[in-house]
Amino acid sequence: MSDFAGLSALVTGGASGIGRATAALLAERGARVAVLDLDPSGVDKPLLGYRADVTDDTSVRAAVAAAVADLGGLDVLVNNAGIGAQGTVEDNDDAEWHRVLDVNVVGMVRVARAALPHLRQSEHAAIVNTCSIAATAGLPQRALYSATKGAVLSLTLAMAADHVREGVRVNCVNPGTADTPWIGRLLDAAADPAAERAALEARQPSGRLVSAAEVAGAVAYLASPLSGATTGTALAVDGGMQGL
Ligand code: NAD
Repeated sequence: MSDFAGLSALVTGGASGIGRATAALLAERGARVAVLDLDPSGVDKPLLGYRADVTDDTSVRAAVAAAVADLGGLDVLVNNAGIGAQGTVEDNDDAEWHRVLDVNVVGMVRVARAALPHLRQSEHAAIVNTCSIAATAGLPQRALYSATKGAVLSLTLAMAADHVREGVRVNCVNPGTADTPWIGRLLDAAADPAAERAALEARQPSGRLVSAAEVAGAVAYLASPLSGATTGTALAVDGGMQGL
């Protein structure tokens, strides 16, 4: 099956976890794929790697321009780069709020701004933002992270409205806890990683974590012409934890 034959995609944060699985799946399904990441050194052919920091507009513009030139156009943007934050509103200071908002929210805006002129020229333009169940679940100890993902959800809906007449669809995926290097780092930092993993698994109705490949599958659907009439939606990929 080659849902993406003739199409080009750019995946931010595509060197690890959900982004890495998404870039691999899109390529397997026939897309030419570029990865934009802080560290693209592990990105292998046929994927193209570009170094950029989504908090730096100049580096984003340069990487998107280079990727579009090498790909020969752009049909799909997977806006996925993101970082975590733990704690209540009393635990994170202003600098930390600005830092995480800059990556998780303004970072997506910067990449979208650079990509939109190219996406408008596509017959099958789609943006998929990686949101999270944290946007709507009211998770404890995740005030800052949840606020950034709430903003991503609202941004997705607003962008869908703004760009629908231009033929650019905008959707997001809301993963539950997904088994990626990020979660691995969180578990490694816990006093008892095995007990922490068991607690995370027990929180899932499915009894297990979501895999990066399962999130990639949902992203691929929303990015592909198969979902051509779908825009302004959030697709839950959370093992039944919380639908929208
Ligand atoms: P990850 O840490 O495995 O991968 C994130 C990638 O983003 C890395 O390659 C990193 O280098 C890149 N990145 C980070 N900051 C960047 C920046 N400033 N500029 C460019 N690239 C940058 O994480 P993951 O678990 O795959 O998470 C990916 C996305 O999925 C994030 O947006 C995250 O919020 C979201 N998400 C993750 C989970 C989960 O449980 N893992 C759940 C819901 C949503």
